[in-house]
Amino acid sequence: MSTNKLLKKYNVAAPRYTSYPTVPYWESESFSEQKWLTALKNSYNIYKQEGISLYIHLPFCESLCTYCGCNTRITKNHGVELPYLKAVIKEWEIYCSFLGERPKIKELHLGGGTPTFFNAENLKTLILGITHQEKSEIACSFEGHPDNTNIQHLQTLYALGFKRLSLGIQDFDPKVQLMINRFQTPEQVAKITSEARAIGYESINFDLIYGLPSQNLLGLSETITEVIHMKPERIAFYSYAHVPWIKSGQRHFDENDIPQGDEKFALYQMGREMLMRAGYQEIGMDHFALKKDSLYEASLNASLHRNFMGYTDQHTKILIGLGVSSISDCHTAFAQNSKTVESYLNHVENGTLSIEKGHLLNDMDLSIRQHILNLMCKGATHFDDPIPPTIKNRLVPLLADRLIEIENHEVRVATLGKSFLRNICMAFDERLWKFKPNTTLFSKAL
Ligand code: SF4
Repeated sequence: MSTNKLLKKYNVAAPRYTSYPTVPYWESESFSEQKWLTALKNSYNIYKQEGISLYIHLPFCESLCTYCGCNTRITKNHGVELPYLKAVIKEWEIYCSFLGERPKIKELHLGGGTPTFFNAENLKTLILGITHQEKSEIACSFEGHPDNTNIQHLQTLYALGFKRLSLGIQDFDPKVQLMINRFQTPEQVAKITSEARAIGYESINFDLIYGLPSQNLLGLSETITEVIHMKPERIAFYSYAHVPWIKSGQRHFDENDIPQGDEKFALYQMGREMLMRAGYQEIGMDHFALKKDSLYEASLNASLHRNFMGYTDQHTKILIGLGVSSISDCHTAFAQNSKTVESYLNHVENGTLSIEKGHLLNDMDLSIRQHILNLMCKGATHFDDPIPPTIKNRLVPLLADRLIEIENHEVRVATLGKSFLRNICMAFDERLWKFKPNTTLFSKAL
């Protein structure tokens, strides 16, 4: 089948599979905070030696990027910083007192929103309030906006143990930047990158997006040329997720402004080829890394993992998400905090968690979750018994289109299938098929 035909066939609404089950299919009605805490305690008793991962959501941004799909609060009032950070520290204390000790933290990530909306001293207060250590051995990373990441952020966080930094670039093309209301020049990004390197940061990631309004091959190739010149260790090259019925900011432009189908895929193909020619290795889905980066090593030694933060080489069974809208995962359950800042602050100020919804995973969920993780991280998954007939039937068209290979009880992602990973995972997604794929819940696969 020609690439065009494949694109038409597989460009359907599809989850990104940062979790299984995906959030819209969680059974939140039968979930409660008590059930979450019981599941967490049980997992903690088993896995505490390996440590936990912490994700901290810092939701504030000074202006709205119109493509944004994150949980944000737009404000120029920096008086919101300290009350919010105090609440996050208090939420962490609630978890520590429930678990009866301060868990060993293996990985800590500040995401957003814009973590660098907060000034460096306030971020220091946050990190010390969580780790109680002036310099920790935790694998710490943060997301920075090139517009407001300054030398104080870089120095202060490095002194606290941060070694990884991720910068949101998306596209340097001024036409695209106007459409997405996000402006940063290559010079700004180059400056932050070289300052971070001089301070000692070991790994820098750039986020790029293809499929943005007004984006074209020429503009994107110029962006990627600039990026290759700066040589970040990692690059996340995502597909723009167009869901204006969920994110009203995306109504700033309309469908005619967005490259679709073949045009969008050509952007991805060009970007991917440029990155690979420049020495980047493709990691799982949407990610590229230089050979010296730990993400590449993890992909070689099968220790690559994927969670709500994307790909990581620091797998722990327990991830606690602090802050508004954060999602926690204790392997057998997921829980998500309230999505509004006020509700989150109210709960925590009253000494309670602000769990809004969640899901307890049954044995089937756990097994499917592992298969999807295997496909996303290792490009193959193995069944001890014959592949269940329902899954096998769903795999038939993917096999016919040469997106996968099946041998004995193993399903492997074929070279062509790497661009259709979300579609391949859908074949395993029992909950999606039970309730029928819903085109309004997810963005298009490609
Ligand atoms: S894309 Fe990032 S910086 Fe822009 S509004 Fe969303 S969270 Fe804020």
